[in-house]
Amino acid sequence: MQVNVAQLLRAPIGSVRDYEINQVMDVTGGGVDSPVQGRVRLMRTNRSILVKGTLDTVVRLTCSRCLGQFSCPLKLNIEEEYFPTTDVVTGAAIDVPDEPGSFTIDENHILDLTEAVRQYALLAVPMKPLCAENCAGLCPVCGQNLNQGPCGCPSREADPRWAELSKLKKEKGN
Ligand SMILES: [Zn+2]
Ligand SMILES: [Zn+2]
Repeated sequence: MQVNVAQLLRAPIGSVRDYEINQVMDVTGGGVDSPVQGRVRLMRTNRSILVKGTLDTVVRLTCSRCLGQFSCPLKLNIEEEYFPTTDVVTGAAIDVPDEPGSFTIDENHILDLTEAVRQYALLAVPMKPLCAENCAGLCPVCGQNLNQGPCGCPSREADPRWAELSKLKKEKGN
């Protein structure tokens, strides 16, 4: 996911270039490639290249309720500043602003979006992924995935011990 920005670095401040992104990469670092598609706009600023755009990707996640694997679409709204490390005209080294986590453009004027995409994707992944809003989860008794149908264990309502428990809860006012 690399863009040569040598020309843009020579262009006047405010110049923009649009790029269509359509690639595959290991977005989550889990060894599985995901498609990454969308558009980014690169703008020359007085000190950097500003990258803005929206990328769509799909990652494989494990449902926190039923432990099943599912595909989760992610939308990444990327906005990052990339600082040049080499002056495009003179070839002299440029001091990069001392901002933690800032991205740089390498000495060959290549701007690499890969790390930004990875970071944005990790932030976009839900803390407790669910394969579906109404995922039925696993049976607490036999462990069957209840999305695939009932398991044959007595249901909670039918189990007198559960009925007793819920009565207790009601009395307590919960
Ligand atoms: Zn699930
Ligand atoms: Zn069961």
